[in-house]
Amino acid sequence: MKILPGATIGVLGSGQLGRMFAISARRMGYRVHTFSPLFDTPTGQIADREFRASYDDLDQVRDFARGVSAVTFEFENVPTATVETAAEFVPVRPGGHVLHTTQNRLREKGFLLSRGFPVAKFKPVRSLEDLSSGLRELGTPAILKTAGFGYDGKGQTRISSPDQAVEAFNSAGRQEMILESFVDFACELSVIAARGLDGSRADWGVIENRHRNHILDLSVTPVPSLPQETLNEARKLAHAVLDELDVVGVLCVEFFLTREGHLLINELAPRPHNSGHLTFDACVTSQFEQQLRAVCGLPLGSTELLRPAAMANLLGELWNAGEPDWAATLSFPDVKLHLYGKITPQVGRKMGHLTALGSSAEDALEKVIGARNILEIQNST
Ligand code: AMP
Repeated sequence: MKILPGATIGVLGSGQLGRMFAISARRMGYRVHTFSPLFDTPTGQIADREFRASYDDLDQVRDFARGVSAVTFEFENVPTATVETAAEFVPVRPGGHVLHTTQNRLREKGFLLSRGFPVAKFKPVRSLEDLSSGLRELGTPAILKTAGFGYDGKGQTRISSPDQAVEAFNSAGRQEMILESFVDFACELSVIAARGLDGSRADWGVIENRHRNHILDLSVTPVPSLPQETLNEARKLAHAVLDELDVVGVLCVEFFLTREGHLLINELAPRPHNSGHLTFDACVTSQFEQQLRAVCGLPLGSTELLRPAAMANLLGELWNAGEPDWAATLSFPDVKLHLYGKITPQVGRKMGHLTALGSSAEDALEKVIGARNILEIQNST
């Protein structure tokens, strides 16, 4: 059944992804309710209604679900019971099985490996003995990550030699972990793709991503410097993941491209992704509108890129010397400013982003870096 404009869509989570989803949904005449433990949130500022409750408060979840036609999420670390409770009332898209697989790195990597997708070597770690034998097998350097609730490099430790095992194990808090081979990558890529209720698929092509301190810093598309077969392969893999996971909605596949030219899947995110923020200004249909279309059982929109584009994140440290000089940034006429309405800037916190449109990917990248440099220089003087 199609869910048409005028209906209300529920969003679990209340950050910037939900905010941009809500802006897209509002534009198409939908109403939006958001649910999270916080108040006056990036999504809540745009939504019609903001439910403030713990994800474990299932009575509130029921109330929330009764008031909407479908539920989606912008944050995948929502407890299974929350999703199952909402699903008693309305469709949850993507479904709980997608969340279950992707919210735990071990389950995710296990799923990918079992379906023949390329991933770096990994080992589950539940004890110091597991870690020591894992290090013997995988060698160093290696990366130890917490299996659950990780993002932006949180809960990650690089182990350069076996004698660091005890310290790394203790610092991770003795929870379930995954040890991964360190990938000496040439670059990091992502493909964001959508799948409709009817199984139709669309993607935005390959996006190149650069990280700073494990946090996404810059994204740019298209990526003409790579062989066409690598780009095609990345897109093919993303479509196959959508099908294998039976996703209805948007999913991002993050890749490492090794120096030998092989693609390895690093991570899946079953929702719009930071690397796809540029689709908001640069594509016929953004990742957020596509999520709405998929969740509502509507046809997917064109993902055509109108102009080469680049995105730069604006993190909390830009506010160290007070409010950044937005007027200076806006003196770049091809740069679009997005701010998420977050009240308190913190180091590493994603407060907003810039998107630049250019005549080529290099041109867009140069503009977006230039526009952000102005803010950084002002901040450091
Ligand atoms: P993640 O939270 O797993 O997406 O990791 C954040 C970032 O850390 C990645 O985008 C990479 O830059 C780096 N990273 C994570 N895992 C590895 C790995 N196995 N080898 C090399 N770099 C990694």
